[in-house]
Amino acid sequence: MEMNGAEFSIIGAGIGGLAAAIALSRKGAKITLYDQAKALGEVGAGLQISPNGVAVLDALGLKDKAAALANTPDAIVLRDYKGAKVTRLNLNDKADESPYWQFHRADLLAVLAGAARKAGVRFCFDHKVTNVARNGAGALIEFSEQESVLVDCLIAADGVRSVTRAAIFAGEAAEFTGQVAWRGLVPTDRLPDGLFANETQVFMGKGRHLVTYPLRGGSVINFVAVEERQNWASEGWNIPDSPENLRNAFSGWAAPVEHLLAAVDHTFLWGLFNHPPLARWSDGQVALLGDSCHPMLPYLAQGAVMGLEDAWVLADALEKSDDIPAGLRDYENRRKSRATRVQNAAKRNAWGYHLRTPGFRGMAHTILRNSSSDRLLARYDWLYKHDVTKT
Ligand SMILES: Cc1cc2nc3c(=O)[nH]c(=O)nc-3n(C[C@H](O)[C@H](O)[C@H](O)COP(=O)(O)OP(=O)(O)OC[C@H]3O[C@@H](n4cnc5c(N)ncnc54)[C@H](O)[C@@H]3O)c2cc1C
Repeated sequence: MEMNGAEFSIIGAGIGGLAAAIALSRKGAKITLYDQAKALGEVGAGLQISPNGVAVLDALGLKDKAAALANTPDAIVLRDYKGAKVTRLNLNDKADESPYWQFHRADLLAVLAGAARKAGVRFCFDHKVTNVARNGAGALIEFSEQESVLVDCLIAADGVRSVTRAAIFAGEAAEFTGQVAWRGLVPTDRLPDGLFANETQVFMGKGRHLVTYPLRGGSVINFVAVEERQNWASEGWNIPDSPENLRNAFSGWAAPVEHLLAAVDHTFLWGLFNHPPLARWSDGQVALLGDSCHPMLPYLAQGAVMGLEDAWVLADALEKSDDIPAGLRDYENRRKSRATRVQNAAKRNAWGYHLRTPGFRGMAHTILRNSSSDRLLARYDWLYKHDVTKT
């Protein structure tokens, strides 16, 4: 279809919505982007972007800007909870061609938002969507305080608690996995010197694990700590919890973990939910993108990366189709099986980190110890080596 001057509305200025805004603008479309936030906020957490996501940043013309802010770790090191090394996966041997990057979320959001502004995207902050309804060929968006708007084509990138998904696509209820994740950042100058190398480290114990990686040139350590538990926690980025609860959950773990957690002032708790795949992602001129349609557990660090892939394919599919509904159907067809495969693979990874039975855990660790770095990483070639911009 003719993209030049075509008008699209997007809900959600997260990684997915911003990337979609840039990808569509680059084809000449006019974008209005609504978000409930008063402005782009400083989300205090890290984000890993694997080579399949970097490929999209590159195709959007953002690789150099992003590279300047990215941390490029040397390896992923898996350890048991006392700190003994289980295995080391060498990353970034080929960083020039296909880097694994880690960002402070605010840094990557700023790169994307800067590019969107430059491309002429119209930002409407402080617009909280309360309902979305199909209206003729397009959609009606209702806001908590502003006048409703009628739009021709709506892309909903409104995250895991998407109003659009609930209003138009329904789907089965999400199920609490029995796992919660704390996340937070610790300035390195509050830690003993040399405690964390330029590596992602995964400490694995009974019913819990903790991931650390450095950001912003090693000046900050990001952590995500996962615990299995019966009681429910809700799903959202900004639910504070007492650092004492986190310290108690990982008490007696390896020295780097204890030092790190002792320095935590603020932490947030996130309930991890399984979301069954949706039957449809598009309906006429309305489509979902990113976490709004395929939220996934964080064990493969792919949620945001899948949003980047979605964004690229969405713009490509629309450009190559006769009209918007056909373009949105093509986008859905091209993305669904891959996103579902990643959702399922992330679910399986949770099991591997948390093996409860000591004998079984020892056996699994021995298998990992005896496997080469290349062989272990090659299990994910289907994921990391796939480049949606070349298909
Ligand atoms: C602990 C943890 C660690 C993770 N680590 C990684 C990682 O390393 N790598 C990775 O790729 N992924 C990771 N993820 C997943 C990743 O964070 C998400 O998949 C990603 O942020 C989703 O992006 P999105 O743009 O789809 O949605 P979001 O980032 O949630 O953005 C949604 C936007 O929509 C707006 N919005 C929502 N509702 C409304 C409304 N009613 N009205 C108006 N605006 C609205 C919000 O304000 C927000 O700006 C992790 C997740 C967790 C929980």
